[in-house]
Amino acid sequence: MKRLESYVCGGWVAGQGPVTALINPSTDEVIGECGSGGIDMAAALAYARARGGPALRELTFAQRGQILRAMSKVLHGGREELIALAIENGGNTRSDAKFDIDGAIFTLSSYGELGHALGDRKLLVDGEGVQLGRTARFYGEHVLTPRRGVAVHVNAFNFPAWGLAEKAATALLAGMPVVSKPASATAMVAWRMMQIFVDAKVLPDGALSFLCGSAGKLLDSLAGQDVLAFTGSSVTARTLRSGEGVVARSVHVNVEADSLNAAVLAPDVAPGSETWNLFVADVSRDITQKTGQKCTAIRRVMVPESRLADVSEALSARLTSVVVGNPTEESVQMGPLATRAQLDDVKSGIARLARETEALVGGEGEVKPRGVAEGKGCFVAPVVRLARDPRAAASVHEHEVFGPVATICVYSGAAEEAAELVGLGDGGLVASIYSDERDWLRAAVPAMAPLNGRLYLGSEKMASQSPGPGTVMPQLVHGGPGRAGGGEELGGLRGMSLYQQRTALQGDKSLLAAILEPG
Ligand code: NAP
Repeated sequence: MKRLESYVCGGWVAGQGPVTALINPSTDEVIGECGSGGIDMAAALAYARARGGPALRELTFAQRGQILRAMSKVLHGGREELIALAIENGGNTRSDAKFDIDGAIFTLSSYGELGHALGDRKLLVDGEGVQLGRTARFYGEHVLTPRRGVAVHVNAFNFPAWGLAEKAATALLAGMPVVSKPASATAMVAWRMMQIFVDAKVLPDGALSFLCGSAGKLLDSLAGQDVLAFTGSSVTARTLRSGEGVVARSVHVNVEADSLNAAVLAPDVAPGSETWNLFVADVSRDITQKTGQKCTAIRRVMVPESRLADVSEALSARLTSVVVGNPTEESVQMGPLATRAQLDDVKSGIARLARETEALVGGEGEVKPRGVAEGKGCFVAPVVRLARDPRAAASVHEHEVFGPVATICVYSGAAEEAAELVGLGDGGLVASIYSDERDWLRAAVPAMAPLNGRLYLGSEKMASQSPGPGTVMPQLVHGGPGRAGGGEELGGLRGMSLYQQRTALQGDKSLLAAILEPG
């Protein structure tokens, strides 16, 4: 059994006292433990601020980009080992594990490229300058400089690799040191990644620390130049946002939380067309990939009444053939949920949906998993529920069942009605819209855009190139309003702004130009 340690104040430290067990969710075997008792959290933050901050700020964007490229490269070297750990600790299939780990490798390298493109400068000018006086002698500019504190990253259990990497890439490129905390139950992959980074000596001292186990008093010592970026449930988000230190010192907070992402099928999409096939593939993938434990997974599927029979048939054909079981078996296509707590949560979520919806596929998730001893593991089958009157099924729009579960919501086919139903989710990370009819999309897009952080337009022309709406791209923003947390990450340069102070400069134009010159 592995005892996971934290990496703080420039060294590995074992926590004392209570521990969280890391369990293989296919077999219920305990494979490791982690705990953070006795770790001086205030000292860990102070070390990052004092050592990592100056070291990163000393570097140009190009040099920070080189660090990210090096991180990406060494992670690639450890890819097979990380995949094996994700299968063991996360219940991932090999393909699920690659989705997480390759996502981490790609995001680090993308931000590495961005650093290279930004070149030999240490600060960024934001937008165009503006003449303030009668002549250009009195001029204004905005600059972006790294905050002088530490970025604390608290991550969810479902993407231990990508979660660490996407947040760290943005903060490090912006010039802020990071303390990263994975969710305890699935920390194995993130812990091994940290070992890989430390062993390869790719980062300056203090630039990246790692806290394994409960956050304890970590957030109590946050100060006004610090940043807290959180991914997880809206319940935890509320606690963290309202923490005394966070509120009193106006700590910059970014939240990525729950989301009842919608897929909307427009009435023009005929069964058997390219767009139809894309829609069916995307919905099926989102239900089963990572056993539905993806923040971007489709939870609600808006289907015109005229297409209900065809959609039901297509999804049923796809999902009833999915082999659920221990992902170490090659034939298995969907693994278990990550923890027993998740299983209980998903089962009670399905039961809640069942009170307001009809069963369409998979009943309430009963399954006999392949390659698993009787009674072991955290398994549930893919489930599709049907809400013929979606306005009367509040739970469909209010409760995120974080597993392989989606509900079809029947609507008339009007874009305005689809947007209204999407809006019942109270803010989402992503909505996907499937249509080749421009007029329909002209009505749908402006109506749905304010409700979502990202809109994915599935159509005939892009179908062959699309990885689906569930894949988060580093070039585009990730986050969403309302229930989704109101946050924004990634999106190239945009994601860095959380870690930078925007300051207005007023002065003589030529003086400002001289100060803002790269180098
Ligand atoms: P969670 O229970 O809220 O935990 C998330 C993280 O918060 C974990 O690292 C956890 O640590 C930590 N945490 C819990 N209580 C804390 C406290 N009082 N102080 C400081 N840290 C605390 O969420 P989860 O079950 O891991 O994740 C599932 C949820 O995340 C889903 O609802 C999903 O929608 C959401 N999610 C959103 C996104 C997104 O990008 N929007 C991505 C992935 C997941 P411990 O594990 O040590 O308790």
